[in-house]
Amino acid sequence: MRILVIEDERKVANFIKQGLEEERYIVEVVFDGVSGLEMAMNNQFDAVLLDVMLPGKDGFSVLKDLRNGGVTVPVLMLTAKGTTEDRVQGLDLGADDYLPKPFNFDELAARLRSILRRSSPEKTTKLKCGDLTLDTVSHLAYRFSQEIELTTKEYALLEYLVRNKNRILSRSTITQHVWKHSFDPESNIIDVYIKRLRSKIENEDGSKPLIQSIRGVGYRMRDLPHEKAYIE
Ligand code: CA
Repeated sequence: MRILVIEDERKVANFIKQGLEEERYIVEVVFDGVSGLEMAMNNQFDAVLLDVMLPGKDGFSVLKDLRNGGVTVPVLMLTAKGTTEDRVQGLDLGADDYLPKPFNFDELAARLRSILRRSSPEKTTKLKCGDLTLDTVSHLAYRFSQEIELTTKEYALLEYLVRNKNRILSRSTITQHVWKHSFDPESNIIDVYIKRLRSKIENEDGSKPLIQSIRGVGYRMRDLPHEKAYIE
């Protein structure tokens, strides 16, 4: 799941980013309202964490413009202003929830899961590909109903591949989406991760390879034809 954090206090922003990444979210951070609005309007996020007191454009205005622009992404407002009026204003403008600062990370994570669940009813939180099932809220992956032990990055990579199954993805596209920055083109980090994923999700005898190498280009997550992948 991709989360946009719009927060000008770098310490708070980094704290949130680090915590969410440990919980296997893909996190994008921007430090002012104008860039935040632009980012949220032009990209697909699963939720936005939005500070109220922001340089450039305050959080309420960002939220208002987002909703007026037809963007329905769930928004959790974060603010030092804990007064009832502010809370009401935020909710009236279309915020999904409100968390006064200072907050503890566990509460933030719980509220985030709650707005994600509400926005994506049970049936849309699971992704399937062949024998694999991914729960995009808890960020767990299963094969034949058995949980697969994955690191945060392995999960993020697997979710990206499954979301784009049957599409050929270049190494640079994968790094941009999963790592958020480019590696040295000579680096083999993607290949290393793919190899590790394969060892965890494919049969040991190499039958039914799920991740195909496309020579000179990158990889493709293959959906086995007789087990048509679908979003439950
Ligand atoms: Ca602020």
